[in-house]
Amino acid sequence: MSPAPFTAADFAVRPPEGCGVVGVSNHPDAARIASLALYALQHRGQESAGICVSNDGSFQLVKNMGRVSEIFTEPVLRKMPGNSAIGHVRYSTTGETSTCNAQPLMANLRRKQIAISHNGNLTNADLLAEELELGGAIYQSTTDSELLLHLIAQDREGTEFGVSLHRALTRLEGAYSFTILHDREMWAVKDPRGIRPLCLGRLGEAWIVASETCALDVVGATFLRELAPGEIVRFSGGEVSRPPALPAAPQAFCVFELIYYSRPDSLAGNKSIYNYRIRLGAELAREHPVSADVVVPIPDSSNPAAIGFAREAGLPLEMGLIRSHYVGRTFIQPAQEIRDFAAKLKYNPVQAILNGRRVVLVDDSIVRGTTSTKIVRMVRDAGAKEVHFRVTAPPWKNSCYYGVDTPNEKELLANKMSVAEMQAFLGVDSLGFISMEGVKRSVPPTMRYCDACFTGNYEAGRIVRQTKMLNR
Ligand code: AMP
Repeated sequence: MSPAPFTAADFAVRPPEGCGVVGVSNHPDAARIASLALYALQHRGQESAGICVSNDGSFQLVKNMGRVSEIFTEPVLRKMPGNSAIGHVRYSTTGETSTCNAQPLMANLRRKQIAISHNGNLTNADLLAEELELGGAIYQSTTDSELLLHLIAQDREGTEFGVSLHRALTRLEGAYSFTILHDREMWAVKDPRGIRPLCLGRLGEAWIVASETCALDVVGATFLRELAPGEIVRFSGGEVSRPPALPAAPQAFCVFELIYYSRPDSLAGNKSIYNYRIRLGAELAREHPVSADVVVPIPDSSNPAAIGFAREAGLPLEMGLIRSHYVGRTFIQPAQEIRDFAAKLKYNPVQAILNGRRVVLVDDSIVRGTTSTKIVRMVRDAGAKEVHFRVTAPPWKNSCYYGVDTPNEKELLANKMSVAEMQAFLGVDSLGFISMEGVKRSVPPTMRYCDACFTGNYEAGRIVRQTKMLNR
């Protein structure tokens, strides 16, 4: 239960968060399938996980802080019968780390039940929250996702759920991929710009929607297609229908999904993200060549990019840093000295690879520069003669308002210093970032992208704050 009532003002301070969503329809063990899919989406959020299962319209919600494996144990899943389910994993590094913000969010709606899972971030949450509050809304959480529930509930004209849903969705701005359970039906929605991914698959008689195709693979489902921007899909028993889509807007798929966020074994634009990362690495090697002995990825997220870099540069690739997979994210932020130690717990250098060599470290992004600085020091301590740092994202200067967890803009290293200053700060012999044009050359040309984090071009709008009425 939520510890305190929230007001519209709470929505203004809520940080963006990363998430993964899933939905399963017409499967006799829907919650189990959803839990397996969530395992595959765990990289999108490790703070909390939840599943709401519908047993012919009777809902059961299980959610908690922690990872999927900690929450959805066999005894728990055994008590979650039902033929449709939605699930969620959530991630937020700053601010609210409490169960009230874990999803799915569930409510009663005109004597039926509804539950929603949301990946994305609404840019007009602050305004909507205030408007809804003035209309009598009482909040259970500080997640913008809850606003959709209120918008649907307050729709007085909607005689049919689909009509109310459509009308509510047209009030939202920003990024959203939703999976929704309502009574005996499941719904999936992608925002009109298609900022976050959402794909559709088939498993026997069942339908599955998930943030990434790797979640379909894990349950043996066949990938059918990505949802189109603005598409609404309704699953009723074994039947699928497509009610009218949301008004079209130019596509703005998050380019950072391709660079870092999505798993490399997922598909984007029907093609392997792994191969796009190889291309990003190769492009980076062309843009920032260097005389060196060995290419070393900062595992795991930059492994494919480092392969691409090494191939293009004609250099050997070695795993000069080993990552421990058993270090979880801690919910309570530890003291600074323990946090510093965390990098050591996570990565260990392989001296045999690094000692006496000129090393190219490849990473996918520099955020605050804190982990990178520690890694560079480790690599030098392991005897590297030279350290050259190469990054498959352009300098990251702007916060993401659309669902990638980012620190405050002032904390982004590229905002605080020039490339030359960053080179000195990181303690490297050279530093090279891929250009935005280089990124565009490496990713599917058939899609349009949101690159606001690198360019500041917020096509889907900035966060709108209504400061006047709330007197903030
Ligand atoms: P830092 O050295 O502190 O700038 O952290 C850079 C590392 O953070 C890179 O290795 C990235 O893979 C990783 N990273 C990139 N984006 C994010 C994000 N939104 N949240 C957490 N880690 C990220």
